[in-house]
Amino acid sequence: MQKIYLDNAATTPIRQEVIDEMVRVMQTEYGNPSSTHSIGRSSKAIVESSRKIIAKHLNCSAQEIIFTSSATEASNWILKSCVKDLGIKRIVSSKIEHHATLYTIQALENEFDVKVEYINILPNGNLDYTHLENLFASNDKTLVSLMHVNNEIGVVNDIKRIGDLCQQNNALFHCDTVQSIGKMVIDLQELNIDFLVSSAHKFHGPKGIGFAYINKKNVLQPLLFGGEQEKGWRAGTEAVHQIAGLSKALDLSFQNIENEAKYVLELKQYCWGKLKNNFPEIKENGENTFYNILNVLLPFTEEKTAMILFNLDIKGIAVSRGSACQSGSVKPSHVLAQMLRDDDLKKPSLRISFSHYNTKEEIDVFIKELKEI
Ligand code: PLP
Repeated sequence: MQKIYLDNAATTPIRQEVIDEMVRVMQTEYGNPSSTHSIGRSSKAIVESSRKIIAKHLNCSAQEIIFTSSATEASNWILKSCVKDLGIKRIVSSKIEHHATLYTIQALENEFDVKVEYINILPNGNLDYTHLENLFASNDKTLVSLMHVNNEIGVVNDIKRIGDLCQQNNALFHCDTVQSIGKMVIDLQELNIDFLVSSAHKFHGPKGIGFAYINKKNVLQPLLFGGEQEKGWRAGTEAVHQIAGLSKALDLSFQNIENEAKYVLELKQYCWGKLKNNFPEIKENGENTFYNILNVLLPFTEEKTAMILFNLDIKGIAVSRGSACQSGSVKPSHVLAQMLRDDDLKKPSLRISFSHYNTKEEIDVFIKELKEI
């Protein structure tokens, strides 16, 4: 059976060139980057050149990039150290952040003397910027934690505006850019971002590797203690093949960024057009959404809702209800719960997310199968 993968916001297939590079590194670059002999130094050189590639694409300095096992780890580290070590007394965030941010903030609120305030979300999924501006009227040392592109509905926050507001109000800005890095240009010299997190498996790289950007004016303390890797900020022997895979994947994404973005946007528009023709009462969840994510509310009955993902899955079609971590769970998505009315929340919402590996033919099959449910 042909498999149709339309769940690229959950994770992406790895590019063949990335696999080839990782295999090469595993076969030939087995040295420990901390070893002083030439075999170790050669591995270290891969780690450092990977760091430089990332820094070049984000327009920051290589020393501001720290490798982690995931974006989840990077956000946990940053948020925790901001509260413990940088004297943050107040966190401003939103209830539609990824759980890597939300649950970390909740844990910090329970453990430390830190107040948390959430920005209102408008019914179209966008942030209420007036509310954000009002939230700055406080003397507490504040960290703003807001994502760039939402992983469930694809709404895009204005990170230039948020960063500028943070700078004017002396607040720090942590930004989860997991869904946007590798898919659009992010110039860190143009943006007032203090901390950013990213994950390779969202841009056709390997799982289990990510990085944090820590603006050099902020000095955090480590989450993990041990060796002197990553200048002591992230102990543990570097996953050299993963790091090489991450930088290769990011480099390839940037080499192809315009063509792939155009192609993926066309696929999304094609899919939305066909959905509207076949299900005239369909609605999009979110407005001004990113080019690879389409989250729709289907005009289906409650009985159909329960079986929809299962029925698509047995036909070999992978899409998502809410976010990947919630597929199969009966809880409504925490993101949609902030935006939709109760009756709409009971209807099925599907997240369809595309990559350049998808085709219009696949979308035709998806629509056909959806009609047959
Ligand atoms: N933030 C967002 C917006 C995500 O989509 C994800 C992955 O689902 C994460 C954070 C977590 O990333 P990782 O898988 O690297 O922990």
